Amino acid sequence: MNNHSLFANKNTILGASVLLGAYLILILTVTNLGQSKLELANQNELHLKVDHYAELLGNYFSRARRSLDLVSKDRTINTYFANKSSGMSMTYGLSSSLFNVQKLLKQETKHKQDTNDHVFSRITLLGLDNKVIADSASELKLNRANINVEELKLQQQRMLVDNTEGQLSIRLAATIFFQKKPIALLIAELDNKPIIQQLTAQEYEGSGSRIELVSEYGNLFIWDSLNASYPHYPQIESAHFLVQKKIKNAPFILDTRFESVNGNDLFTSKWFVLVISLLAIPVFFGLYYLIHIERKNTLLKTQIAHSKKQREDLSKHNLELENEVSKRKASEKKIAFQATHDALTGLPNRSYSLERLSDAIEHSKKSHHKVLVMYVDLDNFKQINDTMGHAVGDIILQQTSKRLLKTVDKADTVARLSGDEFMLIFHDVRDSEHATELAEKVLNAFEKPFNMGDYPFYTSTSVGVALYPEHGEDPDTLLKSADMALYRVKDAGRNNFIFYEPKMSDEVSRKVMVTHRLREAIKENLLEMYYQPLIDLNTQKIVGAEALMRWIDPELGFVSPDEFISLAEKNGLIGELGSFALNKAANQASLWQQIMPLQIAINFSSIQFRDCEGLLNEIQQVLLKTGLPPEKLDVEVTESLLINQGHELSTMLQSLRGMGIELSIDDFGTGYSALSYLQKYSFTKLKIDRAFIMNLTENSADQLLVKAIVAMAKALDLKVVAEGIEEKEQMEFLVGLNCEYGQGYLFSKPVTTGEFEKLLLKQVATEQ
Ligand code: C2E
Ligand code: CA
Ligand code: CA
Repeated sequence: MNNHSLFANKNTILGASVLLGAYLILILTVTNLGQSKLELANQNELHLKVDHYAELLGNYFSRARRSLDLVSKDRTINTYFANKSSGMSMTYGLSSSLFNVQKLLKQETKHKQDTNDHVFSRITLLGLDNKVIADSASELKLNRANINVEELKLQQQRMLVDNTEGQLSIRLAATIFFQKKPIALLIAELDNKPIIQQLTAQEYEGSGSRIELVSEYGNLFIWDSLNASYPHYPQIESAHFLVQKKIKNAPFILDTRFESVNGNDLFTSKWFVLVISLLAIPVFFGLYYLIHIERKNTLLKTQIAHSKKQREDLSKHNLELENEVSKRKASEKKIAFQATHDALTGLPNRSYSLERLSDAIEHSKKSHHKVLVMYVDLDNFKQINDTMGHAVGDIILQQTSKRLLKTVDKADTVARLSGDEFMLIFHDVRDSEHATELAEKVLNAFEKPFNMGDYPFYTSTSVGVALYPEHGEDPDTLLKSADMALYRVKDAGRNNFIFYEPKMSDEVSRKVMVTHRLREAIKENLLEMYYQPLIDLNTQKIVGAEALMRWIDPELGFVSPDEFISLAEKNGLIGELGSFALNKAANQASLWQQIMPLQIAINFSSIQFRDCEGLLNEIQQVLLKTGLPPEKLDVEVTESLLINQGHELSTMLQSLRGMGIELSIDDFGTGYSALSYLQKYSFTKLKIDRAFIMNLTENSADQLLVKAIVAMAKALDLKVVAEGIEEKEQMEFLVGLNCEYGQGYLFSKPVTTGEFEKLLLKQVATEQ
């Protein structure tokens, strides 16, 4: 129920209460008014009645007096006293006249009784000598109370009332005169019955009245229909209506009491009002109960509404809680996922993938199959990242992850270990042939270029492969083995896969040792620059020198630059090594300019170009400091530098060229050999890798290749240098191809500064 009807109900009940109250007040007023009116009327009526009674009684007494008067003047009595005074004896005639008197008295009492008129119950003729002369009831003793003859004889008639006999007696006394003198008294006793009859003419059992005739001598009880309620009368009840009337010519007061109006009339009585009021009580209670119920209802409704609200709140809270819980679960899941997965690719991370590997090992223990672990590394990813930006790098990584996922089964795992390093775990690998198939599948996944907008990016991969159980019995060892195999692939020129071999472990410890010693070597100034002559093949004369770093360690002995340079590229020491080479070689070349105007070629690692601006600055500073003419400096870089490079490198190389510095592309043929790079950057020289020269005289394929390279270089207006010429035939073949420059043991190994200087001086000397 809504609030509106709730209030309407309450108002209805309140209205009903007010109406009931008004009704009760009306009833009370009306009944009270009616009652008082009725009471007044009733009282008037009672007054009239009592007046009537009093008059009746008064008249009754008057009649009684007149009656007695008649008796007193009766001839019989007169005759008796005449006879007596004449001295008549009893025996003669007096007794007869006394008899007549006696007869008269009896007659007076009897006769009147029959007619039911005013009546004397006894009449006594009393002589002035106080002796009874005649008596209607001579057998009874005369009650002499109040009878004082001397007193009474003086009065004509008198009423005597006394109570001496235990019952009120009303007597009339009349004086009898003979010859105008009082001679006797007539004492007549009034019969109470007709008195009572007169005074009860209108009374009946239920009239609720009490009537008494009161005198100073005693009272005459007339009637009582009240005594039902008051058995031990007299007890004056204040509630009774009292009317008293003096009786005319008699010493009586008519004392009447009536039941009050209330008592008399049910409908106007206080009882009725009381009952009505009492009846109102249950109604009031009913109303109160209704209000109570209503209030209870309201309370209940409020409670219900409250509890409903509470429930709603609770369910809302629950919902919020559930949401919170599910949110938390989701975030926990997310956190758990984040903890176990890589954010970029969504692949399992290192720690989680190691768990997976552990599971795979457990599984393989039962299946007796091998577990294959591949350590996959994108070739040249660092360059892509550095030059194209991280956004592009990220996309490459995501696409790599997709490609790798396509190479594995559902049960297998592809994980991202770090940067561009991924791990693949294959279950149920039968043997190493099966493993080889899988590794080839992975390599093939990178044959197609990545599509980055308009540019296709080629990226090969290097894969280190390890098998459980032969290459390691636990996840860490297996991964380490695969990692070692991967390094091996990288060293061997990338874009390949290699199975782990136990000796690789030795290589790793060697790397650790070399790295450690290299740091010491830099501190202890153990590095040196050697120089290998660059020969003009046509004249066989030295036209330049390539600076090559040398490190002869007191502990490790001779360490090949191939070994420590690649290590330095990974452990961050390459910057220092590069600076050392640049300063040392440029300085030396500057000094040698006085002997002859040779050009010095210095090798630069791709890593050094990560800070193009810094490197350019450094080169300028060195040239300034050493005084070496820019055109006498040849900056050698490998093709790997050029892969997916951006604007910065291009500007840097352009700046170098702008300064007059020469640019050589080193080790040409081993890497990407993309002609577009050569066109894009303004190189001045191309160095054909030793690998193609080595077997040049026997291998016709190499011959074709070298021929093509030389032709291409000429077309691009590049000088060509053939590296690693060890044999005369090689040189002759190259000369035949119109290759202008050469380097190699045939002419000279890399030598110390002093030795190189000797070579220079010797040549200058022969020229002169
Ligand atoms: P690279 O730039 O290709 O240098 C030529 C390498 O071929 C040198 O090896 C040289 O000794 C060797 N070589 C020259 N002629 C012959 C030959 O007729 N037969 C044979 N078998 N080898 C020949 P090296 O000095 O051991 O240097 C190896 C590589 O180390 C260099 O290859 C270069 O990439 C790197 N490197 C050396 N010094 C530096 C340096 O100062 N800075 C940088 N960034 N790299 C350097
Ligand atoms: Ca070189
Ligand atoms: Ca080279």
